[in-house]
Amino acid sequence: MSPRGIILKDICFSYSNQNIFRDFNIKIPASKVSVILGPSGCGKSTLLNIIHGILIPDSGVIEKDKNDQLSYLFQEPRLLPWKTVSQNIELILKNHYEHKQRQKITRHYLEIIGLNDFGDYYPSELSGGMRQRVAIARAFAYPAEIILMDEPFQALDPGLKLNLTRLFSSLWTEDHRTSLFVTHDITEAIFLGDEIFVLSAKKPSAIVEHIINPVPRGKRHPEAPESLKIEARLYGLLTSD
Ligand code: ADP
Repeated sequence: MSPRGIILKDICFSYSNQNIFRDFNIKIPASKVSVILGPSGCGKSTLLNIIHGILIPDSGVIEKDKNDQLSYLFQEPRLLPWKTVSQNIELILKNHYEHKQRQKITRHYLEIIGLNDFGDYYPSELSGGMRQRVAIARAFAYPAEIILMDEPFQALDPGLKLNLTRLFSSLWTEDHRTSLFVTHDITEAIFLGDEIFVLSAKKPSAIVEHIINPVPRGKRHPEAPESLKIEARLYGLLTSD
């Protein structure tokens, strides 16, 4: 587990034509699901990429435990088409576990995502929702202390989205990995987020609100009165920018 979470201090970042963050600060708590909520183009993916190290800030400090590995779940599943479902998961375990253990971990995750009969299938033989389930399993199977997720359910229909959101929650409940979930979807934010950080549309992007979700994970549903209150607040924030 990551005892400290992730701390960003005074981060400045610009693309050639646009200043995205100026003196940006955030503390992502350990062992919780934090959601970054904001409209498209506000800088959510940029923030994830800075935390991941794919983008280097112009200035500022990123603090996390030295040994913290990161797992990244993208909008699209990014499975290797020439590998089977099992091989896609086993491959990322290669440098971490011996063969038998890799098979055991893969079986465990295939079972949780309800695809134990599909281990020998190729990604092209699965539906889009099944492929994304495999991608989620792979993200959790990787022995990373931190999981970064960039709108992983965005392209899916509402029913599937709800199922995968629940699946994420049950996987997360196994070991409470420090998770950072980026979305522009208020319902998703309220269902998943223990803490919700709202980013402004206006650049440089800033945190306009930090909400600690008062509704415990198992009791979150769209009609819970506390959730409705947060939803109203978030709608207000996202439409006032
Ligand atoms: P979000 O994830 O919230 O949709 P992004 O972080 O992808 O937002 O993008 C923030 C802003 O930076 C947007 O205006 C986007 O057009 C711009 N942007 C993203 N990537 C690049 C890039 N590689 N070069 C220049 N501008 C970029």
